[in-house]
Amino acid sequence: MELASLTASLLTHLGVATDQLDRGDLAVRSPIDGGTIARLAATPPADADAALKRAHAAYLAWRKVPPPRRGELVRRYGILLRQHKAELGELVTIETGKIRQEGLGEVQEMIDISDFACGLSRQLHGLTIASERPGHRMMEQWHPAGVVGVVSAFNFPAAVWAWNATLAWVCGDSVVWKPSERTPLTALACAALFNAAARELGEVPKGLLEVLVGGRELGTLLADDPRIAVFSATGSCAMGKALAPRVAARLGRSILELGGNNGAIVCPSADLALTERAILFAAAGTAGQRCTTLRRLIVHESVCDALLERLHSAWRRIPVGNPLDPTPLVGPLIDSAAGTAMDAALAEAREEGGTVRGGEKISVPGCEGGCYRRPALVEIPAQCAVVKRETFAPILYVMRYRDFDDAIALHNDVPQGLASSIFTRDLTEAERFLSTTGSDCGIANVNIGPSGAEIGGAFGGEKDTGGGRESGSDAWKAYMRRATCTINYSGALPLAQGIRFGL
Ligand code: NAD
Repeated sequence: MELASLTASLLTHLGVATDQLDRGDLAVRSPIDGGTIARLAATPPADADAALKRAHAAYLAWRKVPPPRRGELVRRYGILLRQHKAELGELVTIETGKIRQEGLGEVQEMIDISDFACGLSRQLHGLTIASERPGHRMMEQWHPAGVVGVVSAFNFPAAVWAWNATLAWVCGDSVVWKPSERTPLTALACAALFNAAARELGEVPKGLLEVLVGGRELGTLLADDPRIAVFSATGSCAMGKALAPRVAARLGRSILELGGNNGAIVCPSADLALTERAILFAAAGTAGQRCTTLRRLIVHESVCDALLERLHSAWRRIPVGNPLDPTPLVGPLIDSAAGTAMDAALAEAREEGGTVRGGEKISVPGCEGGCYRRPALVEIPAQCAVVKRETFAPILYVMRYRDFDDAIALHNDVPQGLASSIFTRDLTEAERFLSTTGSDCGIANVNIGPSGAEIGGAFGGEKDTGGGRESGSDAWKAYMRRATCTINYSGALPLAQGIRFGL
């Protein structure tokens, strides 16, 4: 079936009214063949304002609903996601170009976070704190924060939003979502399933989820609007640097999940077979278009040649092709601009003395309009400017080290601080990498690659990656406001710090 009709049929199954697919000027293209699969109308500013009003009213009602009941809505959402996993996964593949396994994996991640959030709805706990005053009790309460604005990137068009939205809903917040202008159809499908879950449960306020379709102007609108209590933005460092000051100017709260430039250190004792497999997925998976993609490999000189030989052989064999077909492990880049950026980075690496293998254009029969590239492996003598930049494409830079401290210093010497790995069987090296003086990233792994995080941990990174944390652990606290409460049951009025104050 032609991609536009396949998309329309998937959307119908997922509950999206298809009359809106040919209504506007925002052309949505599938990276698989570059063809247009829909033309949506962008949300005008007046409609965005109305959506914000609905979302705020929804928050005022929803915050009064007991959290376990809120969790029930998310539980039902998770059930619908399970029932529609195949269709939604395929839509993700069509809109992003990631292979089927990864499209399905993205929906699985949504299911996982729905389960997590549902359990969390009975665990939004605060502390009790010892009071210095007799007959007093101190405690923390967590209250809903308000409307959460979510701006999302093209490469995880559903899962990253679900990390935010499912937590926000159980925390008692409403959500206004501005998906990437390159992947709005997945957002419409996610919203349709959510609306179905809300109908099933009943008594769910309208406006708990509002989707704004369009470009950057809508991201700016959310950053600037004081009704957005929590502004959660996922995307490039440039986007974060443009929007975070706007949120800060109104003293709003941001969660920033920005670009990564993830490294791995391979030590002399590493299991090279395991390391090779981990690197393959981390560097070439999702065509290098994950925020956690492995981009820098720092290898001990004693094992570098042996590892490179394995990697060269693997890189030559990586099947690149139509992600809807069963065999490819690598699909297309999101668009031709991404291909141009990859070519420019490889040219710069060559000028810096790098030896480039791979990276060439691949013509995929029937998908001539898509931008397919063989993943590139670049041996480079130094961590020059191009290596320090995130090029959102499958390029793995390989550098050698002799001294472990130098390897850690090299590893940390980039602006971004998202995910990192070490491959070693030496406990001392592993512990040093994870220690205070080791990796400076938000995610640090031993003997697995930097990509493919589980939802149970807090996800995010430091430095130019923005400092936000989402998903598991106690990331939920960012979607609530904390009240410290002191209760006096003593009948007297002792003051803190022993202060005496009275007439
Ligand atoms: P992008 O920055 O181009 O766009 C992301 C979103 O921000 C889109 O919705 C876009 O419309 C909006 N946006 C971009 N610039 C804006 C501006 N100046 N003003 C207002 N809105 C703006 O990113 P992308 O190409 O869609 O995604 C790839 C990037 O996202 C990579 O840098 C990747 O590392 C990063 N990313 C980070 C994470 C994370 O969790 N840290 C996850 C996924 C992607």
